Amino acid sequence: EVVNVGGLDVMAFASMQQLVEFIVHDDGTVFAGSAIAINPEKVMKAREDAALKTMLNQAELRYADGMGVVKAMQKKLGRKVERVPGCETWEAIMYRAAAKQVPVFLVGAKPEVLQQTRDKLSAAGVQVVGAQDGYFKDEAALLQQIQQSGAKIITIAMGSPKQELLIERAKKIIPDAYFMGVGGTYDVFTG
Ligand code: UDP
Repeated sequence: EVVNVGGLDVMAFASMQQLVEFIVHDDGTVFAGSAIAINPEKVMKAREDAALKTMLNQAELRYADGMGVVKAMQKKLGRKVERVPGCETWEAIMYRAAAKQVPVFLVGAKPEVLQQTRDKLSAAGVQVVGAQDGYFKDEAALLQQIQQSGAKIITIAMGSPKQELLIERAKKIIPDAYFMGVGGTYDVFTG
């Protein structure tokens, strides 16, 4: 169910597990497109910044991160909506990908953080088919590498709006994969 919060259509999930299963299906296929966590800060900024609003609405899925958004949605729906923190969602999606053997490609962060993230995920059984730190020069080469890796989940930790802009271009080349911008998540995961 979708609720309009300040001009952004945000999907209501009753639990984080429900969101994770919406993205990585039981049969191992994935939700094609991108997802963005919507917090009150983004809602406020999008009210004044039309370009940001357009960018946020370009994602196929928006979900609620932050109590302000959750409360607004609960009021409109008259039922409980879960707050889904971006960082924990990423981790839950990674473990679901491991369980369903969905290939993952990691983009972003500094080389050593990325390597540690890759190692930690691999140790947990995640099939990481490729990784690229967030300080590359040749975007076309990266997109080709991702495409050739066969990855179905691509997570990008480069901060906003870099990651969202990259995702918009990547989706056009790899339309059947799930993309997620995750900010400083790898740093938190390995820190
Ligand atoms: N980063 C990157 N490439 C860049 C700039 C930043 O990979 O050109 C990485 C940086 O190493 C860090 C993350 O992006 O891991 C920045 O996360 P931040 O917390 O600033 O993002 P936010 O969650 O605030 O959007």
